[in-house]
Amino acid sequence: MNKRVFCAALCALTMALPVCAATPTALVIHGGAGTINRDALTAEREQAIRAALDRALDAGHAVLAAGGPALDAVAAVVVVLEDSPYFNAGKGAVFNAEGVNELDSAIMDGSTQRAGAVAGVHRVRNPVLLARAVMEQSPHVMLVGDGAEAFASAIGMALVEPAWFRTEERWQQLQDAKARASAQVALPRSYYFGTVGAVALDSNGHIAAATSTGGMTNKRWGRVGDAPIIGAGTWADAGCGVSATGWGEFFIRLHVAADICARMAYRGDTLTAAAESVVLQRLPAMGGDGGVIAIDGQGNIAMPFNTAGMYRAWIKPDGSRGTAVYANP
Ligand code: ASP
Repeated sequence: MNKRVFCAALCALTMALPVCAATPTALVIHGGAGTINRDALTAEREQAIRAALDRALDAGHAVLAAGGPALDAVAAVVVVLEDSPYFNAGKGAVFNAEGVNELDSAIMDGSTQRAGAVAGVHRVRNPVLLARAVMEQSPHVMLVGDGAEAFASAIGMALVEPAWFRTEERWQQLQDAKARASAQVALPRSYYFGTVGAVALDSNGHIAAATSTGGMTNKRWGRVGDAPIIGAGTWADAGCGVSATGWGEFFIRLHVAADICARMAYRGDTLTAAAESVVLQRLPAMGGDGGVIAIDGQGNIAMPFNTAGMYRAWIKPDGSRGTAVYANP
């Protein structure tokens, strides 16, 4: 067992040991930002969502506590959330205008700035794993649609029936969204709420980020949001990592995730200052809404959002953990 793995194992047993101080790990995850209708979010549903976030956090933390890479940790988190019907990613994703679940995802390794992304896939159970495969098993960064699925088959990834992703709630949201579209009534944010993401700092000081989404309900024409766009919804470099959620068009135009990290690298902003000025000032000034989760090389965490709520959970370097939905947890 090498020193780092030994130390990480000790850290998992007790955070009080001084040996742990040199190798802090941190993990922050989100399950989407938006208008959370307090009436629709029953106590049972909120509990189930928090439990899913906790399971995802545990999956990522297990990797980090064993000395594993941030990249594995964020993938482990996102797989759990993609498989949960409560989030707009994988199973439970929103439907596009043709009544199809059309999924986008990206992953980025901050230590190498390698990245992988997929957009518009219909039969990939865990798009984050395909995004990672694009990064690790192809010479490309981003694959879309049928080509991405052909690549998945070529590397032996099993494809699922589109019915795997379907939930009745999302189907009803599509029917309602179509009715609202013909009546020219705006769509509530809750209709595409639930994008998922994770950012981790591992015991080697490496940061990784991943994001996965079904995008926006009733989307047309192959619309792709920010989640799979490297630098917009997903970014990681040597000192900072970000995963975003919100109105994707604005996150793309503002290059939100990379902008936050660039402010730290070029201007010496703290993580909190950088994340807050982008999410609480630049984004709303342009008319966009949403939030981000972010981590820096010291394990500081930022989770600003300019919406009523953002499902989120974290484990800090001191081992403290939590889940929250509204501005006040
Ligand atoms: N950012 C996602 C998109 O625009 C949606 C969301 O996070 O709610 O596709």
